[in-house]
Amino acid sequence: MALSDRAKSAVGTAIALCSVLLLLVVFPISVRVRIPGTDYRPLGYALEAVLVAVNAGVAFWVRPAWTKVLGSLVAATCLLVLCMTVASNAQRDSARLQRMACLHNTKDLALGLQMYLEDNGAFPLAGSWCDELLPYTIHRDWYRCPAAPALDCGYAYNPALSSATRRALSDASRSVAVFDSDRGWNAAGGLELLTKQPRHLGGDHYGFADGHVEWASRQQVLGKQSRYRWTPE
Ligand SMILES: [Zn+2]
Repeated sequence: MALSDRAKSAVGTAIALCSVLLLLVVFPISVRVRIPGTDYRPLGYALEAVLVAVNAGVAFWVRPAWTKVLGSLVAATCLLVLCMTVASNAQRDSARLQRMACLHNTKDLALGLQMYLEDNGAFPLAGSWCDELLPYTIHRDWYRCPAAPALDCGYAYNPALSSATRRALSDASRSVAVFDSDRGWNAAGGLELLTKQPRHLGGDHYGFADGHVEWASRQQVLGKQSRYRWTPE
């Protein structure tokens, strides 16, 4: 049975209004559901795709001009929200990948320092730590933080470790050895060399004098209860 234009218009308007309701109420909830271990949110994407398709179909199907405009507007809004969601997730994924790569770099540098310590009995000199560490690091790319690719070295060294022996450190697991920094090759210093803005999802990476690595927010590092030490205790 063919529907009259009036009935089509009523159905089209109802679908458009329901879509707006779904977009405002259900979408924010569904877009939170992720595939575990990833940042992909298939329920949110699927709902958005359905809303775009249904409203575009309505705009095509109905005849009265204002209902066509309503359907097109809702479809366009849903499409815009879908694109923004995908773009923001892609950005987050890229930030996550950079964070993982930087974590590995920091780990490799921290382990390089351990090997250097084994061979030489003390940590490298502050003014030439990158040069001295080169034989212990396979790739020069390990010195580049992926979030700061223009720097030949995206990390700084704690000068308190310069020529320090293992015995000089009472708690190597709390003594920062290398960390994300903006000063380049052979940079050495303390809190003043922290990055201007945290590079990795609100935090940076810190490699310790015992070889382990942590991600920490600026608050964790600078807070009163901070476990991060630049001066060996
Ligand atoms: Zn980094």
